[in-house]
Amino acid sequence: MTKICVSIKEPSVEAAVHAALEAKAKGADLIEVRFDLMPELPSDLSAFKKVEMPKIATLRTKGQGGGFEGKDTVMLEFYQRALRAGFEMLDIEMGSPLMERRDKELRKAGVICSKHDFERTPPAAAILDLFIRASAKDALPKGAFTINSSKDLLGMAEVARMFSVTEKESVLIGMGELGTLTRVCADRLGSAFTYASLEAGMETAQGQLDLTTMRRLAKEPVVVGIVGDPVAHSLSPVMHHAAFLESDIPGIYLKFPVAKDDLEDFMEVALEYGLRGFNVTIPHKEVVGRLLDRLAPSAVQAGAVNAVLVEGEELVGHNTDVHGVEMTFKERGIDPRGKSALLVGAGGAARACCAYLSAAGARVRVYNRTQARAEELCRSFRNCQAIGPESLSEGFDIIINSTPLGMKGFPDGLAVPESVFRPGQFAVDLVYTPPRTPFLEAAERAGASTANGELMLVHQAIKSFELWTGRAPSFATMSSALKGGSP
Ligand code: NAP
Repeated sequence: MTKICVSIKEPSVEAAVHAALEAKAKGADLIEVRFDLMPELPSDLSAFKKVEMPKIATLRTKGQGGGFEGKDTVMLEFYQRALRAGFEMLDIEMGSPLMERRDKELRKAGVICSKHDFERTPPAAAILDLFIRASAKDALPKGAFTINSSKDLLGMAEVARMFSVTEKESVLIGMGELGTLTRVCADRLGSAFTYASLEAGMETAQGQLDLTTMRRLAKEPVVVGIVGDPVAHSLSPVMHHAAFLESDIPGIYLKFPVAKDDLEDFMEVALEYGLRGFNVTIPHKEVVGRLLDRLAPSAVQAGAVNAVLVEGEELVGHNTDVHGVEMTFKERGIDPRGKSALLVGAGGAARACCAYLSAAGARVRVYNRTQARAEELCRSFRNCQAIGPESLSEGFDIIINSTPLGMKGFPDGLAVPESVFRPGQFAVDLVYTPPRTPFLEAAERAGASTANGELMLVHQAIKSFELWTGRAPSFATMSSALKGGSP
């Protein structure tokens, strides 16, 4: 099991010692003190002697992405004091002249020879070369790199695999949102330890998680998440987090911002890092099916995938959105049988709506900005026909917005004229952030009853969670997490 090192950023020795003792009490295996982030370099470090656990002293220069601006001689003198105060390890950046002075002037201290890149991840061969050179100097090689793509994640895994042949220890860390996966899966990467913050909000690097979360995930965690572009707005992590706690399963739901041209590589990431599965969102729901090994009947029926289950070495596509749409109608007591429905938009979510409405016996009309896409969609379903703007005045019992218009981060406005809304209609906006959209406001003004995307979101999440863990979380748990949560 990978050890957890709490990285401490405090303004004084007293505060850092207090934090270190708290970290120890909460189960940290070792601590790192970021002296470079203190406003002044402390002269008396003796208080650290009462912290009886392995300690790393770090004094990273501004040029290396830290906060220290002094000379090498000051750094050397400081590290000598840290060793006298009981610090066992020093974090020294690769290429620092201090590495050469270590034998004589640093009492042959344990050294973490680290390389940081806050912009990108170097090629695997370059990282491997650095690691081999560092370990040849009897130092523990550490690489901390910003992860920008699935390729970077695969590169990290490749370094770990190749370096493991040396049977020497190393520490590999990814920074940024995608980098969190390398921290959660530190065991898979063979990292000697990984970093955590003492509390959420006290992180010393992007993508770092807090100690309590990391402890919970220490042993064979269930790792899932959401793949999309963008995913920043997603509230799925808060819902699934609540479900993991309720079911007492050590799991985490991460955000994976993955662009279209990076999607194929992400499939390999899922296998390489041992993901249990992942949700798929805008704009990948229709294309991802081609990259999977198999499709479950729910995904075949909808022609779109929003949940993937990793079964051994196979990626299997499912659709839990259809269930979400169905539950939205059921909970509102609306039976679509024999009713006319206007579906606005023809993307992945629209497919889920069509699958449900058509199977439930509604007469479906699809209106989309790109009509050819609506026609294509209608070819897959019974009782479904694409229409142009001239047919929007027909009069519909049900109207569903499945475009992102009105969603946070997307343009406001309506994809249909306000005249489509009538009293007695059921109008559903699949958008859930914000809870009230221009579409719903216009529908309510006309006297329609409305529902936003929340019911669908919660029910598809329950079904996804069940798919990955075999356990169904309660609606109340996921729904209240959604209401109280922020992305
Ligand atoms: P998608 O596959 O990318 O499809 C988006 C659809 O919206 C396409 O038909 C697109 O038209 C249309 N569209 C995009 N921008 C438009 C604009 N400015 N004006 C008019 N039409 C526009 O996305 P999706 O996965 O179907 O998701 C669609 C929406 O549903 C998103 O807001 C998503 O958050 C929401 N959703 C909610 C839930 C839930 O659980 N509540 C589940 C799934 C999706 P073109 O074909 O012309 O590009």
